[in-house]
Amino acid sequence: MRGRRVARSSERAHIPFGDDCALIRPVAGTALFGLVPIARGTAQREGLRGYLVRLACEHQVRPRDLIARVLGPSSQSVAQLDYARFYSRYAQPIDGLGWYARLFSSALNEATGRNDLQQLTLLPWSELLAPQGQTLLASHPQWCPECLAQGLANGIVWWQLRWSIAQFGWCPDHHVALMSRCPACGRHQPAVPRAPTLVHCDHCGCLLVESEASGSRAPPHEDERSTMAALVSDLIDCQDRMDGEPLSRWKSFLLEQVAALPDHRRAALCRHVGLPARGLQGWLGKGKRVAMHSLLAVCLALGATPASIFADPQPRSMRRACLAAGRVKANTRPRPRHSLAVRTAALHQLSEALHCAGMPPTLRELARTRGVSRAYLVYWFPAQCRAISARRKAVLAEKRRVALEERTALIREAVENLVQQGRYPGRKNVEAAVLAKGFSLRDPGYIDVYRDVIAISDDRRK
Ligand SMILES: [Zn+2]
Ligand SMILES: [Zn+2]
Repeated sequence: MRGRRVARSSERAHIPFGDDCALIRPVAGTALFGLVPIARGTAQREGLRGYLVRLACEHQVRPRDLIARVLGPSSQSVAQLDYARFYSRYAQPIDGLGWYARLFSSALNEATGRNDLQQLTLLPWSELLAPQGQTLLASHPQWCPECLAQGLANGIVWWQLRWSIAQFGWCPDHHVALMSRCPACGRHQPAVPRAPTLVHCDHCGCLLVESEASGSRAPPHEDERSTMAALVSDLIDCQDRMDGEPLSRWKSFLLEQVAALPDHRRAALCRHVGLPARGLQGWLGKGKRVAMHSLLAVCLALGATPASIFADPQPRSMRRACLAAGRVKANTRPRPRHSLAVRTAALHQLSEALHCAGMPPTLRELARTRGVSRAYLVYWFPAQCRAISARRKAVLAEKRRVALEERTALIREAVENLVQQGRYPGRKNVEAAVLAKGFSLRDPGYIDVYRDVIAISDDRRK
């Protein structure tokens, strides 16, 4: 191992986040030290991949040997993963919320005598978050060079769980972009390194903390990247103090938001958040899991934090929160109150419309002439409104039927005329003839009429 040596626990000068985090608790009968995870219960909590490497450092073995020779013998599933591609790429989801996260957290819990290592993964969110590997987790390990440098200076280095999340590209503590390539050789780091180190490039051995290459500091104003990073941090921060099932908390949060909107329309909320019109249906109706980027987009649009949705035992009224933030426009117009005379006049007009000959006016037109809303008519006179709509539908259907008959006759006439003139009644010729009559064969349904007429005409000629 080249470069700077990784600090051992005995060398640690200053230990952040509580004084028990550097303790090694040997548990009788376990293969590995019961190393205490760092920064538990905070946004900077350690991730399971990093924990595994740190464990290998403490035992002075290679991380890949720790998987193959220590965890492998007691788990057939882990033993099968002892191949290069797994270590370089496929091991990334150990920090996620799927099969690898479950496998490694339980194997490491067993080997260390601990029972809390699933908190170093996203498993607490497995009921809520969709497990799409590519969109949930970063495709390569990424890290904050300044967090690592600070860890080196303090004598304790760890990899944070939030660094594994694809949307977390920015360190909100240091306002720098995360790095995913070695500043010296420019290569990505493997998911599980060969050498037992968290701060050196696995290819060239240089320190990963030189931040000149990353260098990009946040602009003075807060941009969307840093807001996203703050939301991800909040999510990770609250994952072991969630109140209730996250999926049901998510649903009730959305329902509160819908209830706070004028007209309680889900589509309005979707539009505001930037989802498709029926975007909430999958979550509220079908119990679908939420993609991380959608969850963050909803939080961003509504000014909510993950902690206020999932961890606050008594969530403040989201309605007040959102309206106060001015993010969702409330209907501030006073609700109009109409007199009994207006209502009676409206009823009279509805009856007249229902009994008039021909097509009755639309509900919207009727409402406008009486100075009320369409919803007012539907609320007070539902039966009459339904009857008017049905009547309009029937009249329209009759009009369509009459038009079809007339136009069929015109198509037939055009075909017969062409045949009499000794011309072929092809589509182009017939189209030219019917266009002069004010319609086209391209109008819905008329191409079939033309084919039928042609078939009959051909039969006759035979
Ligand atoms: Zn940082
Ligand atoms: Zn390198």
